[in-house]
Amino acid sequence: MNILAIESSCDETSAAVLSNGTILSNVIAAQLIHEQYGGVVPELASRAHQQHIVPVVERALTDAKVSKNSLNAIAFTRGPGLLGSLLVGASFAKALALALQIPLIEVNHMQAHVLAHFIEPPVPAFPFLCLTVSGGHTQIVLVRDHLDMEIIGQTHDDAVGEAFDKSAKLLNLPYPGGPLIDKYAQQGNPLAFRFPLAEMPGLDFSFSGIKTAILYFLRDNTKDNPAFIEQNLADICASIQYTLVQMLLGKLKRAARETGIHEIAIAGGVSANSGLRSALTQLGREQGWTVYIPRFEYCTDNAAMIAMAAHYKYLRNEFTSQEVSPMPRLEF
Ligand code: ATP
Ligand code: MG
Ligand code: FE
Repeated sequence: MNILAIESSCDETSAAVLSNGTILSNVIAAQLIHEQYGGVVPELASRAHQQHIVPVVERALTDAKVSKNSLNAIAFTRGPGLLGSLLVGASFAKALALALQIPLIEVNHMQAHVLAHFIEPPVPAFPFLCLTVSGGHTQIVLVRDHLDMEIIGQTHDDAVGEAFDKSAKLLNLPYPGGPLIDKYAQQGNPLAFRFPLAEMPGLDFSFSGIKTAILYFLRDNTKDNPAFIEQNLADICASIQYTLVQMLLGKLKRAARETGIHEIAIAGGVSANSGLRSALTQLGREQGWTVYIPRFEYCTDNAAMIAMAAHYKYLRNEFTSQEVSPMPRLEF
């Protein structure tokens, strides 16, 4: 059983081939054009997807040594994401499914981030908690089964990835700044500067306050010393990263206590952050959790995770019709 999966929700065009539950290929074309604008420009993203999609799919099939005619289903990301970007993947998937006369499978991008944990062992046992942290979302998800998930905590405003990227922008670092904060933080002192931890009810998060706090902190400190940022870049990055990681892990600890679940996973682009990965590993040891951290290439957007989600849908005959349209705000 072969599935071709396509991911085009934001600024990565990706295609993957899965055969009987095993990923055979996972091709990702990142869009570098957005860097000069300091963020993803939706219209440019749609155009780049349009340019990349055919070569990326061809490469995925070639790498997997699977021909179009031996595909059994085509999967695509229905949402959430940018409408123009989603439309490219959805239209391509529909056209190919129609031409090959095979079923179409729609996938929720946020469920797929969680299901990236099933691409390769070790695989978490149900029920588990997944902290999904990405450019557009911050969620604590209670995962009862592959396709049975409930969001038990989430952000009221910015996503944590956005907090990383916006902080980086304030530090004059190029987009996307999350990985650069991570890089500079490795040489800095995480306790050099203090930023306030937001107080939110229950398992929810807020990341808009810290952005403002950083803005004022930089404004005050650069007033008399315009070189303040350059002189303290590593310490500032380490302190910002430390604060964001503390906010995430504080709520994760609470979620584990309230649910009694000790199988803990992280997913999404920010799970590539080295500070989060090491702090979670350490906390897991202290708390007696079994911690699951995906390989780097399965943290940020990729079609392998879409293929994995499609695999479980295929097994349950959960197919979608040719009338389906993308949903920028799709929930699960
Ligand atoms: P969503 O999944 O919510 O639709 P998205 O698909 O844009 O959003 P991902 O590709 O999963 O998000 O993740 C991108 C985010 O991950 C960006 O905000 C980026 O800065 C952040 N990120 C990637 N690597 C790191 C890192 N090492 N440290 C911190 N943040 C990182
Ligand atoms: Mg991206
Ligand atoms: Fe994503």
